[in-house]
Amino acid sequence: MDKFIVSARKYRPQTFDTVVGQSHITTTLKNAIRHQQLAHAFLFCGPRGVGKTTCARILAKTINCEKPTKDGEACDKCQSCQSFNDGASMNYFELDAASNNSVDNIRDLVDQVRFVPQTGKYKVYVIDEVHMLSSSAFNAFLKTLEEPPSYAIFILATTEKHKILPTILSRCQIFDFKRITINDTVHHLGEICGKEEIKAEKAALQIIAQKSEGCMRDALSILDKIVSFTNGELNYTNTLEHLNILDADLYFKLLSYMQQQDLAGAMLLYDDINRKGFEGDLVINGFAEFIRNLLVCKDEKSANLLEVVESFRDKYVAAAKGVSFPFLISTLNILNEAEINYKAARNKRLHVELALIKLCYLQQALQITAEGNTVIKKKLIEGAQAFRVSPIKLYSSPQSKIRNQKSETETQKKEYGNLPVKPIASLEKNDPEEHKTGAKLIIDAPAASNQQPVTPSDPARAGSNKLSALDKIRKQIKGNGSGNGDSTNKPLQYEELIKAWADYIVLLKQKRNPAAQPFELALLRIKDENSFEAVTANNIEQKFVEQERNHLFHFLQEKLHNRILQFTVLVEEKSSDRPAIELTLTAKEQFQKMTEEFPLIKELKDRLRLELDY
Ligand SMILES: [Zn+2]
Repeated sequence: MDKFIVSARKYRPQTFDTVVGQSHITTTLKNAIRHQQLAHAFLFCGPRGVGKTTCARILAKTINCEKPTKDGEACDKCQSCQSFNDGASMNYFELDAASNNSVDNIRDLVDQVRFVPQTGKYKVYVIDEVHMLSSSAFNAFLKTLEEPPSYAIFILATTEKHKILPTILSRCQIFDFKRITINDTVHHLGEICGKEEIKAEKAALQIIAQKSEGCMRDALSILDKIVSFTNGELNYTNTLEHLNILDADLYFKLLSYMQQQDLAGAMLLYDDINRKGFEGDLVINGFAEFIRNLLVCKDEKSANLLEVVESFRDKYVAAAKGVSFPFLISTLNILNEAEINYKAARNKRLHVELALIKLCYLQQALQITAEGNTVIKKKLIEGAQAFRVSPIKLYSSPQSKIRNQKSETETQKKEYGNLPVKPIASLEKNDPEEHKTGAKLIIDAPAASNQQPVTPSDPARAGSNKLSALDKIRKQIKGNGSGNGDSTNKPLQYEELIKAWADYIVLLKQKRNPAAQPFELALLRIKDENSFEAVTANNIEQKFVEQERNHLFHFLQEKLHNRILQFTVLVEEKSSDRPAIELTLTAKEQFQKMTEEFPLIKELKDRLRLELDY
């Protein structure tokens, strides 16, 4: 059985052309070699696993090659190339500055540099992680770096360019290595899979490429790992599983819950994800990445930045069309904040759920602010409405009756908003169908606006003789009706009113409406032929009756054949007419009542010095 060699080593590029994704560097180096304009010190900067050491090795091999190609590549056949390939070349030294960072280590190296190469033209010294060198080691190295022997070439490699002293930077030719793009990685992985006879879905390779974040060494080691787990058959699902990555489908689902403001759905989905073993920060992070992708593909210009599995591309573009920029940006903000505070949160689960709650109501919040300067709260969900309370009606004398009628209508109009308002006065004959077809309330709007509006809370005006437009119309109708008004509106009769009132109570009881009792307790008083008063004992009872006002209004108008019927609900305390309510008395109260009625009982108690046990 062959000895297993990890892909990162087995497929380490051997020529400049095979280096993945760094053509800007390899081309420059090849040209320099061809034109023999090689600098004596290089600084290779860039993230880990992008090919810095590989390029250093290829450079060393190429400049020592006995028969380099015209293109500036090593022949890979000569003795020097062979010894490089076997790792046995005497002209190549690698120093890991991370573990050899002292002055002594550097002095050893400088001592070595003095010796002329036995074979080949150049001696190449690679100092990896050069930023780890101590400052004294740096200083010991400076002189050699500035004036090296003609056969020595230094290649310094680092992942952290900003930590390198300016004195070093100024002595080197600097090459910045790029992160390897997902496409390049996928292509390279595909080639390796082909050579190794591994069956791999492109989507799986794309996930690996994403996970490796531009680091080829990581990508290859992930590939090795999954290949050994899956017996060489990589697909989308098993790759996700091994990489502990959430399926993008879940994020699409989460997004749709947010757009529908379905908090329950989002919480359940998160619970589901959590059960699968995904931690909250991973979900937040993944979702932020997902939102970022949507943001990117919203604009064609930035669509190239979309780095997702190819089969999902269209789905992303389609989803992006359904969300607004403010939504995406606000979502990213919330997720970012949640991610920053995740570590500090004690209850991680609640922390994530809190973010979800914010996200679910984000759409609504944005809509409110989008209304412009005036904030208008949109009613998005049909549901319970606020409890409506009408103001307490003032007792009004018969002279101000017309005024009060007007007030009632106004109140009614306000309360109903845009609901169809049933007519107060109809031009037609008393036709019950007319109610249902919703004949509009007759108000001379422009005329009304000329008048000072009379509100129910404006009792000072109630006594005024000035008639509002509505009252004028009402009078007109009465007058023009040529007796119609009288026949349409039957004068109020106490017996009929009581009967209708009782019928309404029956209706309330059928609906198990708690207002039934206040209705039963209320006293009715006829004011004139078109209006009456309902007298209640307290505010609560009044509220109950007022609550029914609109239904009651139409019910009574219909029942009593009076369309200009009006009523007020009053509170009159200590109403003597009220039927007595049975009260449960305590033992003490019972005794007091007894002594009030029969004072002798108290005398009996006092004389006998009785102690009451209540
Ligand atoms: Zn060669």
